[in-house]
Amino acid sequence: MRFRSLESRIAALFLLLLIAVQVTGLLLIQRGIENNARNAVTAELINGGKVFSRVLEQNAETLRFGARLLARDTAFVAAIGNNDEDDRDTIESALANHGGRIKASLTMLVNAEGRISASTSPYRPAGLEKLVKGMLERAEQADGASGIAIIEQRPYQVVVMPVKAPVTIGWVVMTFPIDKQQAGVMHEVSALQATIMTRSATGNWLSVDSTLPQLAAGSLAAKMQVRGEQALGEQARGKQSGNSFEMEIGGASYSLREIEIGTDGGQRAVVVLGRSLDEATAEYARLERWLLALTVLGIIVSGVAAVLTAKRIAQPLSQLAQTAKRLERGDYKGRIAVERRDEVGALAQALDCMRDGIARREQEIRRLAYWDTLTNLPNRAQFLLHLNESLAEAATLGNQVWVLMMDLDRFKHVNDVLGHQFGDALLRQVAERLLALMVQRGQSSAQLARLGGDEFAILLPGADLDHAIGLAAEVLQALETPLSLDEQTVDIGAGLGIAGYPEHGADGESLLSMAEVAMYTAKQRRDGAVVYDPVFDQSSAKSLSLLTELRNAVERDELRLFVQPKITIASGVVSGAEALVRWAHPERGNVFPDQFIPFAEQTGFIRVLTRWVLEQSAMLSRQLAQRGVHLKISVNLSTRDLMDQDLPGKFAEIMHRHQVSPGAFCLEITESAIMDDPVRAQHTLERLHAMGADLSIDDFGTGYSSLAYLKRLPVDELKIDKSFVLNMEQDVGDAKIVRSTIDLGHNMGLRVVAEGLESEAVWGLLKRMGCDQGQGYFMSRPIPAAELGDWIGRWRAPGSAAAASRVAENSTVPAK
Ligand code: C2E
Ligand code: CA
Ligand code: CA
Repeated sequence: MRFRSLESRIAALFLLLLIAVQVTGLLLIQRGIENNARNAVTAELINGGKVFSRVLEQNAETLRFGARLLARDTAFVAAIGNNDEDDRDTIESALANHGGRIKASLTMLVNAEGRISASTSPYRPAGLEKLVKGMLERAEQADGASGIAIIEQRPYQVVVMPVKAPVTIGWVVMTFPIDKQQAGVMHEVSALQATIMTRSATGNWLSVDSTLPQLAAGSLAAKMQVRGEQALGEQARGKQSGNSFEMEIGGASYSLREIEIGTDGGQRAVVVLGRSLDEATAEYARLERWLLALTVLGIIVSGVAAVLTAKRIAQPLSQLAQTAKRLERGDYKGRIAVERRDEVGALAQALDCMRDGIARREQEIRRLAYWDTLTNLPNRAQFLLHLNESLAEAATLGNQVWVLMMDLDRFKHVNDVLGHQFGDALLRQVAERLLALMVQRGQSSAQLARLGGDEFAILLPGADLDHAIGLAAEVLQALETPLSLDEQTVDIGAGLGIAGYPEHGADGESLLSMAEVAMYTAKQRRDGAVVYDPVFDQSSAKSLSLLTELRNAVERDELRLFVQPKITIASGVVSGAEALVRWAHPERGNVFPDQFIPFAEQTGFIRVLTRWVLEQSAMLSRQLAQRGVHLKISVNLSTRDLMDQDLPGKFAEIMHRHQVSPGAFCLEITESAIMDDPVRAQHTLERLHAMGADLSIDDFGTGYSSLAYLKRLPVDELKIDKSFVLNMEQDVGDAKIVRSTIDLGHNMGLRVVAEGLESEAVWGLLKRMGCDQGQGYFMSRPIPAAELGDWIGRWRAPGSAAAASRVAENSTVPAK
């Protein structure tokens, strides 16, 4: 609709402009024509005036000629000279003859005294005599004179001619009316309307004779009357009205000009020449009609042209707009077909290029959005799409769908230590291995995806659980062979989770998260592949929310330091205590470390936690020392702590601040913590050991470490894992392991500690095996640090129940 309006706007604008130009032109031309016509009429009138004057002059000449003939007539002259009765007849007939010949209205003889002595008419108009008397002298000198007389409001030409014999003996006077005849002549030669008019001394106008119809002539007189009064007024106000004017006479408009013929006393005689404007402009009017017709035609033609042009502009635009709408809907097919060489064509072409560009870019964006650029595998979004499609299909076919999710072990660490480039190359190699496996198993490569980071997933539509477990085993096996890159060999294991439809869930997202939960469980258990179980969810959801809260725990002072005593078995003396953290959760009560330490390690929060434990342990150590109790406090360190280059510095600072000696501390490290990055771990441990702290290998026997590392590390203590100690009384195998571990430790010059000592029987066994120290529920569960002093006071070693034990002298460390 909007384009229609653009079209009409263009058309309307053009039309408006056109009409404005045409109408202005027309008006200008019309005015020009009118002016022209008026000018022409004025010129005509002026000329007419001149012509009329000429006519009067010629008339006067004719009259003079006629009068002269009479004045030179010898018989006539003689008759005047004789002046008797006979001659009087001769004179009168001569006057009549000559006057008649030249059509004089009155012919008179005036004697030398200036008296009218003969006349063709007995009528002697008053005033004529006086006029003639005034002319005599002029006539005498110039051989005849002419003038104008107005008698009874009618104008006459008067000629006076001296009769000489040879002196002047009289005058011939002839009068001629100025009337229809002169007016007629005027009308004939010039097509002007002529009206002879007089004005009496009192200002009354009279139309004497006119070529106009009588009625019109009458109305002209009336109008002249009015005009005369106005002119009088104007004169009084000092204005001079010209003798050209316009009037409406008898329903037609006239341009008029007043030309004076003469005056007589207070009377005036004029001829009013008139030209009908309608007549004068008749030719122009025809021209104007033509012009008007042409203008209208021009407007119509250009109007049509404007509309067509507007259409030509607006229509392709609306076409392009439709195309743009199509592009908006994501339809990039179909070229934009506007074959024009003008700007609109250029716009269409540009839009077409844009369409191509957008289509290409969208394809690229799609690729980036759905494909992992590093491994060229589908990404999480694409995998989910695929998974949901398979689920929909499975729902109709009654199939199963299984999802495998895998996360590499220690990848983050590899990335940190060997660099991101190395990490990327490693991921590519893993992807290649998995792809090769998929192809080998006859699976589509599209079923393998990299979800992000070091997470991969495999989709198995139409498979069963056995098939999924089989493939999981193969995947783990494929990753068992170390990867070699840049002459480096990297051992890279993985945790694998399995979840499936319809057994576990029905939608893609939840199946994926179930597989993920199973995968984390697998990692925690160090168990290659784990099938999802709803039980996992509860614990993992709990730990996840705990993790968020954990961040606030330190600030809210929710952590508590618990300690578990370590006893020298041979003497029954309390020689140390292990610091174990507890979380006094406001709602959950006491939370055990197993539930948050792994997550603290994953997020790096463990560094904050370790710092807190060191701080609290240092305070405890100082308090005990002040009471004269000198114990070695064992503190657990995790992998992240060992990777922390600042740890030795922080440790030293805490020791210094609380004025305790590093020698009052034993740091416990698990084998796996060392094995993650042996070089860095060794470096950190060496620095800590150099300060005087003891080092202990915790959970000894559960890791995969080689003894070669043990030999190289500055270790002071081996802590046999509780799994071997707990049942050593019943389990001969466990007992053998404990015995040989004790021997191994001693042979390497290390102190050996057994943890998980739950019974007096085991106490006895360990004593016989020569184990240095024991730690376990048999002596004490972990207790709040503040209760340790009292506990020591109550402690009685087995077999020496009566004797109160003392804190062993050999394990005391002087307080600083
Ligand atoms: P761990 O270092 O091996 O600590 C010994 C664990 O064995 C403690 O569990 C202790 O309560 C338990 N235990 C001691 N004697 C017996 C016994 O006779 N029978 C049985 N069944 N268990 C016994 P806890 O306190 O729950 O700690 C679990 C683990 O959490 C610790 O294992 C340690 O790896 C970690 N942990 C605890 N506190 C800290 C800490 O402050 N820092 C770090 N990095 N790890 C900590
Ligand atoms: Ca420990
Ligand atoms: Ca342990």
